[in-house]
Amino acid sequence: MTDLPLALVTGASRGIGAAVAHVLEPSYRVLLGGRDADALRERADELPGSEPWPVDLADAGAVREAAAHIDSLDVLVHSAGVAELGTIAEADDAAWQANFEVNVLAMVRLTRLLLPALRAARGHVVVINSGAGLNARPGWGPYAASKFAAKAFADALRAEEEGNGVRVTSIHPGRTDTEMQRGIVAGEGKEYDPSRFLRPDSVATAVLTAVSATPDAHLTDLVLRPS
Ligand code: NAP
Repeated sequence: MTDLPLALVTGASRGIGAAVAHVLEPSYRVLLGGRDADALRERADELPGSEPWPVDLADAGAVREAAAHIDSLDVLVHSAGVAELGTIAEADDAAWQANFEVNVLAMVRLTRLLLPALRAARGHVVVINSGAGLNARPGWGPYAASKFAAKAFADALRAEEEGNGVRVTSIHPGRTDTEMQRGIVAGEGKEYDPSRFLRPDSVATAVLTAVSATPDAHLTDLVLRPS
């Protein structure tokens, strides 16, 4: 087991990140990122090849300390995220800051800290982006802007690090059945019908496809829509 490659999945306490941890765990040692220590412990109990990596990604000092122990990293999946929605007229500074702090700055900070470890392993960075990172619809501006920024980050990182053997994939899922989506639908005042949404497992399968690609193939962007 200790010979397996190492993956760090942020946002692994629930939702898409937890599903990603499940599909990676048979072939990787998985560090489970998140703040909810109880949920991380439950996930780790389900997955013997995993262990909690509890850290608030908005706390730069704590992230630096937690990342310092990682010398070589094969896969880094950024799934931690928040969705603060609102029209440009309505959404205040706090909404914009919340989206950018977690969806952009925390991701950039963690990637920069782990870049030497990713280069050492010729590793793979996967960014769980969104359909909102390709199209900005009315009422989604603050979240969409953070996801457009996340795509720009991934594109620049890919161009800069390909020569070092590091691959970078952006995954753009449509609406997916998670707690985040329940909050969005509640905010829209609609009834929640999970059958209309992607399953977290389906997004996780796209992540596995990206990181399992043969060395000659670099899957740069994957777009998933509920069918
Ligand atoms: P979710 O169920 O709300 O889970 C969010 C995860 O992010 C949780 O594990 C949470 O962990 C973690 N997180 C949030 N803030 C954090 C912080 N400051 N530090 C550490 N961890 C933090 O959301 P999800 O639906 O799985 O979303 C995962 C990703 O997919 C996000 O980037 C989201 O934008 C994207 N996405 C979602 C959908 C959708 O419809 N659900 C569609 C497209 C894209 P703790 O609470 O334990 O900290």
